[in-house]
Amino acid sequence: MREDETRKVFRFAPSPNGYLHLGHAFSALLDFDAARREGGRFLLRMEDIDKGRARSEFEAAIYEDLAWLGLVWEEPVRRQSEHLDDYAAALAELDALGLLYPCACSRADIARATSAADAPRDPEGALLYPGTCRGKRRDRAGANLRLDMAKAAALVGGEVFWDEHGKEIVASPAEWGDVVLARKDIGTSYHIAVVVDDALQGVTDVVRGRDLYEATRIHRLLQELLGLPAPAYRHHALVLDEDGRKLAKSRLSKPLWELRAEGATPTDVRAMLGL
Ligand code: GLU
Repeated sequence: MREDETRKVFRFAPSPNGYLHLGHAFSALLDFDAARREGGRFLLRMEDIDKGRARSEFEAAIYEDLAWLGLVWEEPVRRQSEHLDDYAAALAELDALGLLYPCACSRADIARATSAADAPRDPEGALLYPGTCRGKRRDRAGANLRLDMAKAAALVGGEVFWDEHGKEIVASPAEWGDVVLARKDIGTSYHIAVVVDDALQGVTDVVRGRDLYEATRIHRLLQELLGLPAPAYRHHALVLDEDGRKLAKSRLSKPLWELRAEGATPTDVRAMLGL
């Protein structure tokens, strides 16, 4: 085994859909510090599959902000928009297992079908897709592709497991229902891109915000279905504003470049984050 293969691999994976703020800085610094502390590698990945929102000026600003914070990452940076074939290959594998189906429902269709007050909700509280198109003949052109969750969950015995900061978590992916794995506009999804990339990049440790904790059971399910290794996860607390709310319109939600322009230093940023 080469020496490299024994080292942990960490990554920070921002979406260049806007400027980084303190919440992103917290994630990036936790990742980077853990990599340094544990003698690991640190990668940066641009999660830019959403063509409608990703912009090159945000990407450039991310490099500038992270370098200013003192982060050093390996080159080249992987840009998801340049690897759509990898995501298509993973989707084709799931399709070959009979786990995907086209869905042409609009948001309005779904809202109509789930109007009952007691309609089931996913782990984040959003209404579950009611399965309208499952098992129906639908044209694939211009349709989203959804995972047949009951079938997929059954293939892994109904439960997934992961290491969350040294503790074993057991979760049922079925609670997410038939999630969209290929959006009709971009041909893939965050869930597919993140598990494929973490595997291709050899990521061993995912350090990211608590807002992605519930999605982890989908990621673990996809890793199991695709035969990909399971990284260890650490979901950190979100940075809250002075009133205990998720970063909203407060001083803390200012982009990093604005804090910098006002004279803040990287040391000030670490101090604001308690790092
Ligand atoms: N790109 C995602 C975001 O900016 C993070 C993905 C991840 O860490 O898994 O929220």
